[in-house]
Amino acid sequence: MNLRQEYNKYFLDIYGQVDFVPIKASGSRMFGENNEMVIDFMSGIAVNGLGHCHPELINTLINQAQKLWHVSNIMVNEPALELGQLLTENSCCDKAFICNSGTEATEAALKLARRYALKNFDYSKNKIISFKNSFHGRTLFAVSAGGQSKYSQDFAPLPPSIIHAEFNNLESIEALIDKTVAAVIVEPIQAEGGVIPAIPEFLQKLRELCDKYQAILIFDEVQTGIGRTGKLFAYQHYNIEPDIICLAKALGCGFPIGAILVKEKFASGFELGSHGTTFGGNPLSCAVACSAFKIINNNELLDGVNERAGQFREYLEAINEELGIYSEIRGKGLLLGMELEEKYSGKAREIMLAGFKHNVATLMASPNVSRLTPSLIIPEEDIMIGCNRFADALNSLC
Ligand SMILES: *Cc1c(COP(=O)(O)O)cnc(C)c1O
Repeated sequence: MNLRQEYNKYFLDIYGQVDFVPIKASGSRMFGENNEMVIDFMSGIAVNGLGHCHPELINTLINQAQKLWHVSNIMVNEPALELGQLLTENSCCDKAFICNSGTEATEAALKLARRYALKNFDYSKNKIISFKNSFHGRTLFAVSAGGQSKYSQDFAPLPPSIIHAEFNNLESIEALIDKTVAAVIVEPIQAEGGVIPAIPEFLQKLRELCDKYQAILIFDEVQTGIGRTGKLFAYQHYNIEPDIICLAKALGCGFPIGAILVKEKFASGFELGSHGTTFGGNPLSCAVACSAFKIINNNELLDGVNERAGQFREYLEAINEELGIYSEIRGKGLLLGMELEEKYSGKAREIMLAGFKHNVATLMASPNVSRLTPSLIIPEEDIMIGCNRFADALNSLC
């Protein structure tokens, strides 16, 4: 039986999945229906920060599963309390709201910002500035804030009062921001849009402009947060502090959970009853997230991310020297993007598929950029095996 072919009988055809169907996995290795071994350089799209089936996370999950699964937001629970404490004590923010995904996190951040502006100023302060090419999730508010019209144009009418500035362009943001802006939402590294790091002066200027016009600065760290860039949060590379941080992806290292962290000053944006979610703060997801956070928030582990990133770059640059497929290898930590030479323009998906044919799982980020988001603790041996396979995959296309 081929499981991949069965799928289309029962599911909406949204994703166009690859032929490889993993049955089990461990660390950075996935095993398929025929026991083929695939090296994992994508970790569930930057989610499995500690690889597959990390023993400590398994223990935490099993222990919590025997104690308490779900209580709703009518009651406090211990794992949620601990997670709120860990996230606020280790970030520039003071208060947390826990939800279930990245989209829910950006949605909550934008709603909080609108409501804060309405309560503290007047209705004219309702604009949201986001950036072209950005990605903030898939609800209608999130795709509208996102800067890729392919995700929003077919769902009109869209929520109004969202404007898009040019990323990394100071003049563009200066021209658009004024006192009618409630919030600016930005990814410190545009991930889905092609792994494009913000230049420091750009984010520093955003901070200045948001202070000047009393707008809330939201960092969407759904992909960059929780160790991915070699620091706990990407904002820590930039010498500034956002007012709200959006988290998800690696927060649960594979268990679904999202969160926003908010500075005290803006915490009153949400008050009793103004927002909510049934599953948010679920004991199972919070217990796993606490365990994952305590493992990742460790200097040795974070230094290891940068070491591994160095190893990846060495292999990839050597491969590229021979094949000349990529014009640039960029990113921060283990969020790596490789921009295709013009000659190979639009081939990122083909490269991803060729990777799977050679038993290495990689990603794309826009049609012209290959992306790698491996586990933060991937062993050097797996980096080597995977890079050799990736070289074979690229060779098969050249
Ligand atoms: C993945 C992602 C989201 C959406 O997260 P979901 O969990 O898929 O809803 C939002 N923002 C960024 C930056 C992301 O990378």
